[in-house]
Amino acid sequence: MPRRLTGFTPSGDLHLGNYIGAIAPIVAGQGTTDTVVFISDLHALTLEHDPSDVRRRTLEFATLLLAAGADPGTCLFLVQSHVPEHTELHYLLECTTGYGEAQRMIQFKEKAGRQRQVRMSLLTYPILMAADILLYDTDEVPVGEDQTQHVELARDLAQRFNTRYGPTFTVPRAVNPPVAARIMDLTAPGDKMSKSAASPTGTLRLLDEPDVLRRKVMRAVTDAGSDVVYDPERKPGVANLLAILAACTHEDPNVLAKRFDRYAELKAAVADAVVATLAPIRDRYLRLSGDPDHVRAALRTGAERARELAGRKVRQAKSAIGLLPG
Ligand code: AMP
Repeated sequence: MPRRLTGFTPSGDLHLGNYIGAIAPIVAGQGTTDTVVFISDLHALTLEHDPSDVRRRTLEFATLLLAAGADPGTCLFLVQSHVPEHTELHYLLECTTGYGEAQRMIQFKEKAGRQRQVRMSLLTYPILMAADILLYDTDEVPVGEDQTQHVELARDLAQRFNTRYGPTFTVPRAVNPPVAARIMDLTAPGDKMSKSAASPTGTLRLLDEPDVLRRKVMRAVTDAGSDVVYDPERKPGVANLLAILAACTHEDPNVLAKRFDRYAELKAAVADAVVATLAPIRDRYLRLSGDPDHVRAALRTGAERARELAGRKVRQAKSAIGLLPG
């Protein structure tokens, strides 16, 4: 079975884009894919952060993943900082990365350009991400286009390390989700729905109440004209609504488009489908969050299992790179 790895950084709120693009595929792949699901709390420290927010969100994300159907008996389910091998391997990979190579990362240039004070970890986080991936002999990393360059870096580092110090790491590859799995902001369909969106009205949060979800969908930006067609280039707003409906109902957006004469009808159907998808997750979340010890126990077991795998990999890498076993 190929091993897949997905991380969720506990900054901002999880939204429908995360669910359709990442969480639903994890749940659907359980049984046919060997999956590593983790909360990448260390990555949340690369930008200005509130410590209590990161801690609260880490538990919230873990609870939401369980509520959405992630099965810790099938997946390796963990919090990144609970497995210190992530940072241990990070250092070994820093010693394999060129300074220019890290500086070339587009995400770094974009994020650093928007801030006055840039943390060193913003520069090095793709190397930590490479460690996250290589630690578990990951074969496939499902990512959007914005993260493809980071998976390329992980590939380069794995190949370089293997060539210089002997075969140690599986060389991973990025798998891009289909276009329809990329959900756009409801108020700005040119931008991806994102945890850090400037306006919350374009983001359907997993924990939004059903009424709030409905209101946001009914106010979504549509396009000129009035016919409902799936055309992401010419009608990005309508195409996004159709993509959401398609993902929630497991149907084809082109086929769905033919069922609607007016935008208002499409929006009503999208609102119903989104509520039908997210309300049960929210309900399970509310139940599970009443028992945080259950969630913590699942994370503890996950970290223990992960440390067995990761510990072996780090020992192998340390020995290959020239460190004397203690
Ligand atoms: P992030 O929110 O950037 O931490 O991403 C967590 C996971 O959700 C990654 O696998 C992303 O590719 C996925 N994801 C984030 N935003 C979207 C979106 N708007 N549409 C589809 N997938 C997304």
